[in-house]
Amino acid sequence: MEKLPPISLYVHIPFCVKKCDYCDFLSAPADERVRQEYVSALVREITSYRETALARRPVRSIFLGGGTPSVLSVQQIGRILQAIRDYFYVNRDACEISMEMNPGTADREKCFELCKLGINRFSIGLQSPDDACLRRLGRIHTYRQFLDTYGWLREAGCSNINIDLMSALPGQHLGDYADGLHKVCELGPEHISAYSLILEEGTPLFDRYYSLHNATNGRGAGEDGFDSWSLPDEDEERGMYHETKRILAAYGYERYEISNYARAGYACYHNCVYWQRGEYLGLGLGAASLLSERRLKNTVDLPAYLGGRTIDEEQTLLLDEKDRMEETMYLGLRMMQGVDRNRFRETFHRTVEQVYGPVIEKYRSMGLLQTTDSHIMLTEKGVDVSNVIFADFLL
Ligand code: SF4
Repeated sequence: MEKLPPISLYVHIPFCVKKCDYCDFLSAPADERVRQEYVSALVREITSYRETALARRPVRSIFLGGGTPSVLSVQQIGRILQAIRDYFYVNRDACEISMEMNPGTADREKCFELCKLGINRFSIGLQSPDDACLRRLGRIHTYRQFLDTYGWLREAGCSNINIDLMSALPGQHLGDYADGLHKVCELGPEHISAYSLILEEGTPLFDRYYSLHNATNGRGAGEDGFDSWSLPDEDEERGMYHETKRILAAYGYERYEISNYARAGYACYHNCVYWQRGEYLGLGLGAASLLSERRLKNTVDLPAYLGGRTIDEEQTLLLDEKDRMEETMYLGLRMMQGVDRNRFRETFHRTVEQVYGPVIEKYRSMGLLQTTDSHIMLTEKGVDVSNVIFADFLL
């Protein structure tokens, strides 16, 4: 029998208890009726792949992301996973099934039930172990609630947990940030994702920050004013970035991607698929896919999705060779192992030097890129300025 290549599935759940003040993701609160309708629409979309070639490929990872997938009930999540198992080829023992969850959205019983559904990796959105920071971000939970969720998942037998953290938060200082990192590492999660806050225009946090900034002309205005909302300056932000690398390494976490750290053997398979340009199918509102060198996107219009519309044809992009080479480089270089030379040559019938020789040489001579017989990767200094380097790989 022909051996089919694996596929990964992303399932988007666009609901949250409440919108966080910094968030510009495709997510919003919704009532139970809408959530129920959404699950039915998702199951319909999953079912539509029955008897397609995709459904015969082994599913190697499923990622329930959002939004906050854990706002759905155990029954609703079970329905989605069952539909995937009914209509795709999922090997229970060889499939990473991740779910994002937020503290405050699951009690002990729910954590146990979710594990029983076969979810074998949880990604908990903590963001900060400091309750004052959590309040300023408009998060719905406290650190205590996070500890409860984490403990219940462990009790239920989950042995693969990611914790999401953010740095450069309003009112955050380097010392507190480092203390917080130690606190989280002491818990011993298998994986930590660490990102810097980006103030997105149009979010309440962006508006609050700039209105306080303007009102005080940049001067402090006391504990409840601008002081506690001021963002770390560039030096302090860089300090947090370097402390993240240093502290996580000291606790035995290997940095395998610019913002992702894991204990040996716990890199997230699903996310590696994105960076290595493996094929994946996105299901649900606004979900993106990479299939047959096409980037596809589902509609972001919720009523239209509930009414049965899925792919937004206007967003479909057929990638030419140039696009694919560029993606191979700027996605692949995000990973510390870098870009596989042989794979590049097999895919494009040219060596990576034949296409990118001058750029590679430029950054190699600056000590920002290194090459081995098998791979091309950023050096530690190169990772610090990765965005500038990535831009140079656009043909
Ligand atoms: S929980 Fe996540 S997706 Fe939901 S509003 Fe907050 S940041 Fe956005």
